Amino acid sequence: MDKNELEEIINRLYEECKAAAKEEEVPVSACLLLPSGEKIYTHNHCIKEKNPFLHAEILALEEGFKKTGSLYLKGATLFVTLEPCLRCRGAILKAGISHLYYRSKDEERGALSYYHIFVDNVLSLSHIQEARFSSLLSSFFQSKRKTGAEYDKINRSDEQK
Ligand SMILES: [Zn+2]
Repeated sequence: MDKNELEEIINRLYEECKAAAKEEEVPVSACLLLPSGEKIYTHNHCIKEKNPFLHAEILALEEGFKKTGSLYLKGATLFVTLEPCLRCRGAILKAGISHLYYRSKDEERGALSYYHIFVDNVLSLSHIQEARFSSLLSSFFQSKRKTGAEYDKINRSDEQK
């Protein structure tokens, strides 16, 4: 993948994160790059659907299964703006994703940072445009705390990204 294509993906991921925040979702997004070159962009839908399992990467995988009509996504690459949780990491492994890139670490519940589930094909993207992604996440949580929105009532310790 060349630098321009990667930058384009990151820019689209950022737009998806902003769309998520507008919908009161935690601003996390994913891009599934299929071997055909097709890209699927998603963001969290936990709040909207009242379902804490609807993380961006799961929605991207599900869309990938539908699009390819396949049970596995071998040769596909997944980009996620926040390190996957344990459940999503398992799903990514099960789907046979070839490469996983993630933007920010999740020290509290990330499958890699916290649970130390390391595999060879995990790559970090943290050096590219890190500042604007982390400022989007932190300003989202700041505004939620200020307004006492439903998200905060759930309790930050229970949050699903
Ligand atoms: Zn997850």
